[in-house]
Amino acid sequence: MATSTVAPKPAVATMKAAQISKPGSALEIIEREIPEPDAGQVRIKVQACGICHSDVLVKEGLLPGIQYPRVPGHEVAGIVNEVGAGVTTWKIGQRVGVGWHGGHDNTCRECRRGDFRNCRNVKISGVSYDGGYQQYMVAPVEALVPIPDGLTDVEAAPLLDAGITTYNALRSSGAMPGDLVAVQGIGGLGHLGVQFANRFGYNVAAIGRGSENAVLARKLGAHVYIDSQATNAAEELQKLGGARVIIATAPNSKAMSALINGLGPNGKLVVVGAAPDPIEVTPAQLIFGSKTIQGWAAGTPAASEDALNFCVLTGVRPMIETYPLERADEAYARMMSGDAQFRVVLTM
Ligand SMILES: [Zn+2]
Repeated sequence: MATSTVAPKPAVATMKAAQISKPGSALEIIEREIPEPDAGQVRIKVQACGICHSDVLVKEGLLPGIQYPRVPGHEVAGIVNEVGAGVTTWKIGQRVGVGWHGGHDNTCRECRRGDFRNCRNVKISGVSYDGGYQQYMVAPVEALVPIPDGLTDVEAAPLLDAGITTYNALRSSGAMPGDLVAVQGIGGLGHLGVQFANRFGYNVAAIGRGSENAVLARKLGAHVYIDSQATNAAEELQKLGGARVIIATAPNSKAMSALINGLGPNGKLVVVGAAPDPIEVTPAQLIFGSKTIQGWAAGTPAASEDALNFCVLTGVRPMIETYPLERADEAYARMMSGDAQFRVVLTM
């Protein structure tokens, strides 16, 4: 029997997102369609997303090739909500994260050698595609990180960039247990760097401006606190024998330049804080004592998995301030102010 009833048009499911409509514009809250995962992708119901200083690249249009409008966010914690065709190893309901490493092509020269971090066509979540400042996001499977039960969503989120960056930079730095390792900057990255350095068994010197962070730095695991305003931090490091590694987290190139003379023989300055101005160093500073300056960016999802599990094992946790997604612009301003203690995290 035929009926004349027209099938009701399915209501389009929508969600809230915070987007940048063009470089320099504010984060605006919009209502948009919930995205569908393609083959090799999953959809994540976002629970929490950290706001990172490098989101400024999207906000202000500082990277070439970003397509706007763009939803930032590369510190994403959530739950797999739908899987695309061909996805077999990730299940609906599974807790997952997405960090800075948003995907790789598996085919370029570096990928063929297993160096996915340096993929020639590496994708960045929240830059190459829409990130976690929204209620649902879609990500390729090679970007996913399983989140262990011992971490909440808001704890896991900042560990997926700020955490993995300091963890991976330190564990790859060549420093051995007992070596003097300095962490410059007690902020979003540095407060995690101090904790990791302590758990890795280093002799940890935290370097901050002013005396107000001394108590906190010691509580986080620093053995020594060096106030770079009251003293010459490089000389203080030399009094302790010279640093095997200095991890420079505060985006301040002048402060980094001033620390190079604090390196001991074979010492290495590992740069993770991104400031636009140059680091200044003379050849002699590097030649005598075979010093190195190295840049470091985050890590692969597999390395993030190691970092999250390490945090469960050792009690390393980020210090966070949470804001609801609706207040993303205010939360971003809070992060930019430098006053947040220490990572700002959006909750959905
Ligand atoms: Zn590649």
